[in-house]
Amino acid sequence: MAYAYDPDNIFAKILRGEIPNDTVLETEHSLAFRDIRPQAPTHVLVIPKGSYVSFDHFARDATEAEILDYMRTIGEVCRMEGVEEDGFRLISNAGGHGVQEVPHLHVHILAGRPLGRMLQ
Ligand code: 5GP
Repeated sequence: MAYAYDPDNIFAKILRGEIPNDTVLETEHSLAFRDIRPQAPTHVLVIPKGSYVSFDHFARDATEAEILDYMRTIGEVCRMEGVEEDGFRLISNAGGHGVQEVPHLHVHILAGRPLGRMLQ
């Protein structure tokens, strides 16, 4: 399956510096920044710099260096935000059923309040 990446999506514009963002951490292959509409006291989005639509696209086509950098960045942001002790949630919405608003892979890091049970 071919993944069609839209270079005009909001996160691509953020990566090109066309839209400002509140950066938490930037690495060689990843960028972490605060969500513009936070759903919890801590709400950080982590994106790869490469043009990947979704987690499955990334897992198939990203280099090992990109994947390692991305995973490490997510973990590092959790440490920086101090959320390990009380807990946190990672979410990555994909496609129509996943209700993905921005078609560039992102993981939401949510923390800072009880987040409720998602799966029954
Ligand atoms: P999705 O539904 O695709 O998983 O979530 C996209 C997220 O991107 C939403 O939580 C939304 O608030 C956030 N978002 C949309 N546009 C912008 C923007 O321009 N800047 C930032 N920082 N976040 C955005």
